Amino acid sequence: MTSDTLLNTFSDITVIKHPFVQHKLTSLRDKNTSTREFRMLVEELGILIGYEATRDLETVEIEVETPLEKAMCPVLKGKKLCIVTIMRAGNGLAEGVLKLSPSARVGHIGMYRDPETKQPVDYYLKMPHSIDERTIIVVDPMLATGNSAAAAIQKMKALGAKDIRFICLFAAPEGIKAFKEEHPDVPMFIGSIDRCLDDNAYIRPGVGDAGDRIYGTK
Ligand code: URA
Repeated sequence: MTSDTLLNTFSDITVIKHPFVQHKLTSLRDKNTSTREFRMLVEELGILIGYEATRDLETVEIEVETPLEKAMCPVLKGKKLCIVTIMRAGNGLAEGVLKLSPSARVGHIGMYRDPETKQPVDYYLKMPHSIDERTIIVVDPMLATGNSAAAAIQKMKALGAKDIRFICLFAAPEGIKAFKEEHPDVPMFIGSIDRCLDDNAYIRPGVGDAGDRIYGTK
């Protein structure tokens, strides 16, 4: 599926075309980008894409006293956001979204991809309370087959989450299709829709292994 076909077939997919986002994504692709720089870029992209993903959050007016007068001014409504990171590469992106909302709660899902079946295997789950009352932002820099992200969203739904959004930096068309077929109701915010998945389920052209590049483990 081309990205145009995907965008025409499924709703609620936002590709962030902003030049700063696109420029930073290109720096991530460069194999000569250092670990330090890669980590910083992922965090910065978390802020920029997180900003788009939270554009419609509701606000409520409260009274504040400025040095000059009392005024009614907006603040975020409801419980604190919950950022859910799919470990381990998601942690880098979560740091960026946390810069937008420093008091957000953070949930962790530990999943790895079985190298044979390419299916997600989960090994950890720790979530804050009142999931059903929070906006949940699930983050994973790479949406490859879509299996881990779809499974993570499924877990959130099973815990009662109602307002869920997903953020990634790079997505394969195959991953978007699988994700949207399972979760048509979950808005996706994506930096780039790349060409395809390769035989090892890596995104092409992609960035290689995002976790290794964020943490310098290769
Ligand atoms: N995970 C990665 O880190 N990179 C890919 O290309 C696909 C999945």
